[in-house]
Amino acid sequence: MLYQLYQYRALGYEYVKQTKATLDATEFSTSLPSSLEQMKPLVLSCHLCSLAKTRKNVVFGEGNPRADLMFIGEGPGASEDELAKPFVGRSGQLLTKIINNVLELKREDVYISNIVKCRPPNNRVPTLEEVDSCRAYILQQIEAVKPKIIVALGSTSYHHLTKEYDTKISQVRGEVFDFMGIKLVPTFHPSFLLRNPSAKKEVYHDMLRVKRMLS
Ligand code: URA
Repeated sequence: MLYQLYQYRALGYEYVKQTKATLDATEFSTSLPSSLEQMKPLVLSCHLCSLAKTRKNVVFGEGNPRADLMFIGEGPGASEDELAKPFVGRSGQLLTKIINNVLELKREDVYISNIVKCRPPNNRVPTLEEVDSCRAYILQQIEAVKPKIIVALGSTSYHHLTKEYDTKISQVRGEVFDFMGIKLVPTFHPSFLLRNPSAKKEVYHDMLRVKRMLS
């Protein structure tokens, strides 16, 4: 119990004597609002995990709030942390090219978000605890946007959405799964493509499939 309290304090929590106002606020913050605009300020002030201590900005997500297509990545990198926007660094530029040239869509037509909203230090993979702290946000974003198709970018996104932790992304990429009644298509992460350009052809085929499913 004491250990847990110290952990909370390390994360920036302070003991506040409960009044009617703080109780009302707690009640409000435990149930997330259903629209993206109402949800955003809550996410921007989140301190539920230790990533809050090292982030510069919370990267909420951006795009068409009624998009048919939603991309979900792993978590912000340095450029995203700096600019508070998802996928704006090198892998983001590749994702934008895929959206423009293969799907023949504009970035503003789709919705782009991440499994965790704050940059893990040195771009390490987010821990299960960090993902769990953030899980309600991505689920609520999916509920709000109600896309027809979700593209899970990379294994972290696929594993944490589906909880199929033992399945390799290479075994499932390009397949269509059901997720909350929405079609989920896993594919390789753009940063993997930057390191392994020969895998671009697989992603090209996965995206052609998504394009057909959208039409
Ligand atoms: N990689 C991700 O998974 N998400 C971003 O927003 C940027 C890089």
